[in-house]
Amino acid sequence: MKEKIRKFMAGRYGIDAFGNFMLGVTLVLIVLSLFLPLFGILAVLSLVFCYYRMFSRNIPKRSIENGRYLFYRQKYFGAVDKRLNRLRDMRTHHIYKCPGCGQKIRIPRGKGMIEIRCPKCSTIFKKKS
Ligand SMILES: [Zn+2]
Repeated sequence: MKEKIRKFMAGRYGIDAFGNFMLGVTLVLIVLSLFLPLFGILAVLSLVFCYYRMFSRNIPKRSIENGRYLFYRQKYFGAVDKRLNRLRDMRTHHIYKCPGCGQKIRIPRGKGMIEIRCPKCSTIFKKKS
């Protein structure tokens, strides 16, 4: 079965960031359709669009669509993504500011007292990681 799926998907586009986003949109539309049936039709159309992209053999065109999606995501939600990544990062890394130039430096946690060399101005300072 797994082999059959693999053979079927060979040369097809598959899933990407835009595909994941559209699946999320489909899920939201499904939930909204519980309140207003019109959204059910939109959810079906959205799901058909997702599968159309996944099974498409026109890989360059699908890549361009994904690139466009990533461009607009960066443009409008880049700051939000950056904050979310930083929050996710807090568990594993510290962010220190260089006392010399103010450059932010990302240091892995749990290494004890370490000497940090600023990559921008070469100032050396000690911090607990
Ligand atoms: Zn520095």
